Amino acid sequence: MHTKTIKELSALLQAKKISATELAQLHLDRIAKSELNAFLHVDAALTLQQAAAADLRLAGNDTTPLTGIPIAHKDIFVTRDWRSTAGSKMLGNYTSPFDAAVVERFNRAGTVTLGKLNCDEFAMGSSNENSAFGLVKNPWDTLAIPGGSSGGSAAAIAARLAPAATATDTGGSIRQPASLCGVTGIKPTYGRVSRYGMIAFASSLDQGGPMAKTAEDCGLLLNAMAGFDERDSTSIERPQEDFTRDLNRSLQGLRIGVPREYFGAGLASDVEQAVRAALAEYEKLGATLVDISLPKTELSIPVYYVIAPAEASSNLSRFDGVRYGHRAKDYKDLSDMYQKSRAEGFGVEVKRRILVGAYVLSHGYYDAYYLQAQKIRRLIADDFKQAFTQCDVIMGPVSPTVAWDLGAKADDPVANYLADIFTLSTSLAGLPGMSIPCGFGQGEKNAQRPVGLQIIGNYFDEARLLNVAHQYQLATDWHQRAPAGI
Ligand code: GLN
Repeated sequence: MHTKTIKELSALLQAKKISATELAQLHLDRIAKSELNAFLHVDAALTLQQAAAADLRLAGNDTTPLTGIPIAHKDIFVTRDWRSTAGSKMLGNYTSPFDAAVVERFNRAGTVTLGKLNCDEFAMGSSNENSAFGLVKNPWDTLAIPGGSSGGSAAAIAARLAPAATATDTGGSIRQPASLCGVTGIKPTYGRVSRYGMIAFASSLDQGGPMAKTAEDCGLLLNAMAGFDERDSTSIERPQEDFTRDLNRSLQGLRIGVPREYFGAGLASDVEQAVRAALAEYEKLGATLVDISLPKTELSIPVYYVIAPAEASSNLSRFDGVRYGHRAKDYKDLSDMYQKSRAEGFGVEVKRRILVGAYVLSHGYYDAYYLQAQKIRRLIADDFKQAFTQCDVIMGPVSPTVAWDLGAKADDPVANYLADIFTLSTSLAGLPGMSIPCGFGQGEKNAQRPVGLQIIGNYFDEARLLNVAHQYQLATDWHQRAPAGI
């Protein structure tokens, strides 16, 4: 049962071949046995209560395609019933008085929450090693990182601990862990999914999205997840869409842009081979490859690592030990309380970013760094605008290498930042992007480590991205592979 897709499970639930309660219990049992550390908070009684409610709905007519489907939420989305920590000691004991918009929407659709998923602290990282609650292991190879920041989400799907998960992507955190764990994930256009109740990292970049086994499942999840929300000032007001509407369109005549800059030095040869094989498969499906250029790609790293910390330093100023979160026990006065609470509550990477952010925003440096970064951000978006005059979608690698060993880059923040080279520009431009499994690494060590294909679309073109991904998944079986013993 745990190997089935949401689409398949939904049919079984509707036909009463399985109950939501049985399905929830089965996944709770798998979670209890797992040693990946993908889950931070599980409460079986609460989950079963939601499952019982879903079963009642399934007995009547008030159902959606997601009623009774188990889901797990990245611990960046606040929940009333489960703790919400953002992977930080700062929020170690925090329970929210309300549900995030995304959680509300899934609850309304009738999904059953399995618990909250581990992630890098405040979603800052690419390996999930920055969580205050311990690292997450990659189910394909437990010596490898699962990717980050949504490492718990990707590991949970890959290990078949949940058929569906939420995640967030600020600079790649849906696509990169999906790639490194061999699952499917989509980061929608900025503004598609409400940020209300999504603990903020960098507000102009943060975007929620789903992860699942297939593109079709991601479409079903996005249908529930996306939509205008007046509580999020950057939410986009557009009519509700069915993101699965184009899944079965033929790819005949599809123009795929292949950016030169995504295949240069620095791209591991095994990743390149898997991605090129996927492009060849697309040619068989009727698509044509177009050589394109995204000349500002290289600048996305410095630009992102100025803008994201700047916004983070501002967003994280709310954690002062007064309103919520950790408060130091001993302090002399108010200022001492702020300092000690923040010094104790935040981890190293978060502090590093707060310092960088405060620096680039400070008087005298603002023009040199922050303003400059904003200008280049615009040029990065212009690269894509130009590219989309020549092609319908863009394809390339997600990550320059397969998952690296746990600990390998733990003491080297810049090495982590450099690995984000292929995902950051999409985020800076606000475009939708996805990752689908397309093969494995090579060599003794990497043979069990998945490779993801990145598909980038124009604004609001999620339905096309899902169509393009789905057609590939009909023709190949990479997305059906599961780690040994699972
Ligand atoms: N790896 C990037 C960072 O560390 C992206 C993280 C994200 O998308 N949340 O900021």
